[in-house]
Formats: sequence, C-alpha cells, structure tokens
Amino acid sequence: MKDISAFLAQRKHASLHRHRLTLNTPQGAHIAVEGRSYISFCSNDYLGLANDPRLIKALKHGADKFGVSSGSAHLISGHSMAHHQLELALADFVGYERVLLFSTGYMANLGVITALVDRKEALFQDKLNHASLIDAARLAQATLKRYLHGDASSLKQQMATVNDNSTHLVVTDGVFSMDGDLAPLVELSKVCHQNNGLLVVDDAHGLGVIGKQGRGTASHFGLASAPPILIGTFGKAFGTFGAFVAASDEIIEMLIQLARTYIYTTALPPAMAHATLCSLNILKNEEWRRQHLRKLISKFRTHAKQLGLKLGDSTTPIQPVLIGDTQQALAISQKLNAAGILTPAIRPPAVPQGGARLRITFSAQHTCDDVERLLCALEAATQ
Ligand SMILES: *Cc1c(COP(=O)(O)O)cnc(C)c1O
Repeated sequence: MKDISAFLAQRKHASLHRHRLTLNTPQGAHIAVEGRSYISFCSNDYLGLANDPRLIKALKHGADKFGVSSGSAHLISGHSMAHHQLELALADFVGYERVLLFSTGYMANLGVITALVDRKEALFQDKLNHASLIDAARLAQATLKRYLHGDASSLKQQMATVNDNSTHLVVTDGVFSMDGDLAPLVELSKVCHQNNGLLVVDDAHGLGVIGKQGRGTASHFGLASAPPILIGTFGKAFGTFGAFVAASDEIIEMLIQLARTYIYTTALPPAMAHATLCSLNILKNEEWRRQHLRKLISKFRTHAKQLGLKLGDSTTPIQPVLIGDTQQALAISQKLNAAGILTPAIRPPAVPQGGARLRITFSAQHTCDDVERLLCALEAATQ
C-alpha cells in the first residue's frame, strides 16, 4: 500500500495539494464561498442555466410526477418515460438515429470504449483528451496510441503503423477542456474515412455552446457527415446532470448489451431527465445566450492581449491564461481571490508540467462589467 502520510506531505511540498471550496449559494456568475462573495469565472455552467427558475420548476414537477430515485438500473426497472422522452428529443436535436442516456459523462466514456474495443486492439486518441477517455482505454486494455494534439497528420501517421483491416476507434474531445480550442473535425473525419477509423467525439464543452442552436463542434464546422459517435454531458451547458451517447441504432443496441457502466449502475433520477428536457428547449431556442457569450469572450481577449497576457488559441468560453510556473499561477490566483474574483489555478497533473494556468470560464450570466472587473484584477495581479 502507498505511504499515505508521505504522499500527502509531498503533495503539499510541491504545491499540488488539492482542497474543495464550499459554496453557500447556487452555482452562478456571482457566488458566495465560505461566507465571502465572489464573481466566479470557474464553472462549466456556460449558459447560466444551473439555477434557472424554469429548470428548478421542471425538476420539482419531475419529482412530483416520477418521484426522486429511479430505484434501479435501466435494464431492470429503472428506465422511465422521462428518460425515454429525453432520448427521443436529444436524437432529434443532434440528428442521430438513437440516443442512450448514461448517469455521467465519465461513465459514458468508459462504457463506449470498453464495449467497442477489444483487448490489445489499437485505439487512437488526442494527447489532450479528457482523463475519462484515457481511463477508458486503460480499462479496455486497448493499445492506446496518442497522436499530437489537434494534429490530423499525426493521427494519419499513427494509423499507418497499424496494418490490419479492422475498424479502429479514433477519439477526441470536441472542445478541449483545459485549452478551450477545437478539434479539427473536418481533417480528423477525412483521415478516418481514408483509414477505416470510426470517429468518436466527446463534446462535453461544445454542446449548447457552439454550432447551430448549440448543436456542438461538428455543427460549428458544418461537417458533411456527422461523427458516428457523439458523447454529450448535461453538467455543463445544460445546467443539469447526466450524459448521453448518440449513434446509429446498431451501436446503441451494442452499448445496451455490453456497456458495463450502463448496465451495472442506477439510472439517472427521472426528474433530472425531465429537467434536462426542459433545459434542451431553452438551450436551443435562446440564441441570445450564445451571442452574449461571444461578446464577453471577444471583449476579454481584446483587452487581455493589450495587458500582455498569454492567452490560448480559443474562441470558446474556456479561456486559459498561461502562466507556466505552478507557484506563480497559485500566487496570481490568490491575489485574484483577494480581489473577489474566483479563478483557480490549474496545475499538473491536470495540465502538463510547466503548463500551470488560470482557467477562466465565462457564462451567459456574466455582465460586461464583470469582465471589466476581471481584467482590472488580472492587471493588478500579474504586474
Ligand atoms: C466533464 C467532462 C466529462 C465528464 O462528464 P461528467 O458528466 O461530469 O462525468 C467527460 N468528458 C469531458 C471532455 C468533460 O469535460
């Protein structure tokens, strides 16, 4: 077993020790943490829906109608009308034959990859994919081949080293969670078509935020044919909880038979599915939320560049400010906190060594004034 006290001491020594903030308020642009008020620039509630009165009402209505717990796994007796309706509405929204709900995005990723990839089979992933996708490859005991970040020619090279005629999964985040940049889906799709690859896109940060009516990264690029498998989560732009996989009828049937994180777990509370259906309608129809976000992002980037800050190549609500040194990133984050701005420093191992950063995220709930206050605090903290 690990030496627990040595491990904890080493973590503290390396400024890598993590602790949690306790919120006194609902998630939002303005929150209170341990009794102090902050403007928060660190949630994934991009559209500002997590505390929307209509969603609260839908959740209450869902509880009145369906109770609190699903009480069972989907394949036993936990699959309710609320789940079913949400699956149909999502399939229609994203334009796939069928959708399958999962209890979290983490579980959806584990489920898809372990159900579809054989042991020792090659599996291709972007170097900066989300941790759950990397864990999925480990669990599947696949031969993981990681291509250079956002680089379709690196993928092509890697695929060329595997000479067999079977189909291989190629897995990428749509919007990368720490950098906010987009996967080059047009180029990746092309490489997949030419090399017998089946593209899987985890669009946790793209859905609701980019593309026509918030349909995500593939829609943003106007992809001629949609990626065969799309994974989405509800804990981000949807403002609720849970996840889904969209694919062909055949792939979904396969997942129902084989995805252990689908089979051996309790179904999402049906009231949550009911609230998510409400959220889907808001998300596709309230274009002003995405417009406002774009305005905030462009204001931030213009002024941050004038301050000489090192920004990422991102047009999404995820805006990293690259600092590099872990101690320095922590010090800046602490100064911002003291000024009433919440933006935690992201440190290794969540990002590569020397890649410490502030991960600033915007929400449609922020005002232009909030962004100005952030910029002033950044200017003072980085001088
Ligand atoms: C958040 C996230 C997940 C996990 O989703 P949960 O529903 O929070 O488990 C998976 N993939 C990506 C890219 C994510 O950002």
